[in-house]
Amino acid sequence: MVTRLPIRAEFADEAPYGAPQLDVPVTLNVNENPYPPDAELLADIAAAARDAALRLNRYPDRDFMALRQDLADYLAEESGVRVSAAQIWAANGSNEVMLHLLQAFAGPGRCVLSFAPTYSMYPEYARDTFSRWVVGPRREDFTIDVNSARQTITRERPAVILLASPNNPTGTALSRSELEGILDAAVASGPDDGGSEQASSLVVVDEAYAEFRRDGAPSAMELLAQYPHMVVTRTMSKAFGAAGLRLGYLAASQEVVDAVTVVRLPYHLSAVTQAVARAALAHRAPLRRQVAEIRVARDALAQELRVRGLRVAPSDANYLLFGTFPDRHAVWQALLERGVLIREVGPEGWLRVSIGTPEENAAFLVALGEAM
Ligand code: PMP
Repeated sequence: MVTRLPIRAEFADEAPYGAPQLDVPVTLNVNENPYPPDAELLADIAAAARDAALRLNRYPDRDFMALRQDLADYLAEESGVRVSAAQIWAANGSNEVMLHLLQAFAGPGRCVLSFAPTYSMYPEYARDTFSRWVVGPRREDFTIDVNSARQTITRERPAVILLASPNNPTGTALSRSELEGILDAAVASGPDDGGSEQASSLVVVDEAYAEFRRDGAPSAMELLAQYPHMVVTRTMSKAFGAAGLRLGYLAASQEVVDAVTVVRLPYHLSAVTQAVARAALAHRAPLRRQVAEIRVARDALAQELRVRGLRVAPSDANYLLFGTFPDRHAVWQALLERGVLIREVGPEGWLRVSIGTPEENAAFLVALGEAM
C-alpha cells in the first residue's frame, strides 16, 4: 500500500534541532555547568526522589505551589526583587516555558520578533506555534540599536519580542537603558486584535545565564513591577548545574501566569522533577560559590584568548564567543580530533566555548594552540 502522510508544510523539510552529543573527554559545547552534584546534594536528591516516589501512583501537584514559592525565594535572594509564588511559572526547561508563552501569546497571524545573532531555538518556537518569525539585526558588537529596534517593533507589531540577556551565543547582556527603550517601545505595539485598547507586545527577557552576569550588569527582574508586559525567564540548567533535571521558570505579572496556565498540559511537571528541583534549590549556597568560580575562570580564559591575538566578545555568561577564523570548521574539527568539543555557532568565523573545570579549560587552550 502506498500512502503519503499529511505532514504540515512548515515541518516538511525540517530536521530536529540539537547540538551533536559526542562522547569525548572535554565537552564544552552546550554551556553546561561542568560540576556534577556534590555528595551532600546527591543524598538530598535521592531522599527527595524517594519521598516523591511513595506517592507515585498519584498525579503530582498540578500547580506546584511549594516549588513556585522556593523559586520566588531564590529569585528574591539572587536579584533582590521579591515576587509572589503566583507570579512564578515553571516547566520542563526554559524551552518549554518559552513554548507555553508563544502558545498563549503568539500563533497564526501573529509575529514573534528577535534580534540576531541570537538563540537558535527561537525561530523553532515560532515555527512550532505557526507564528510569523521576524529577526532584526544586532550591531557589530552584538548590542541592540534601540532606535532601529523601535522602528522594527512599530512596523511589525509583534505579539512577542524575545530578548536573550545574556545573549546566546554572544554573551552580550542588555543594559538597563536598552531594555527600558525596548519596553517603552513595546507598550502599545502589539497585534491589532480588535480590543478597545491597543495591546502591548509581550517582551520576554530570557535570562538563562543571568547568574553569570558581571558585577553591575542589571537583571530585568529589577524592572518587573514597572512593566506588566515583561516576562523574565530563567533556568536551573546552567548556574544550578541541573541541565538533566529539565526545570525552567518565569517571573511575570499574575495575568501572564494565568494565560500560560491555560495552555499547559495537566501535570506537566512530574512529582520527581518538583521534588528534585526543591532539593537543589535548598543547596543554593555552595552552587552560588561555584558560579563565582566559573565567572572568574571565564574572565581569565577571555584574557588568555585575547593575549593570543583573538577577538573575544565581552561575556556575561558561562561561555565565550571568540574568533575570527577564515575556516572555523577546520578549527572546530581540529579541536574535536584532540578530544575537545566546542560549538560551531554564531556569525561566520566565530566559535563558542563553554567554561569548564580548570582542567578542561587548560585542555581547551592546549588543543587550540595546536589547532591554530
Ligand atoms: N535560553 C537560552 C538563551 C539558552 O541558551 C538555553 C539553553 N541552551 C535555553 C534558553 C534553554 O535552556 P533549558 O531548556 O535547559 O532551560
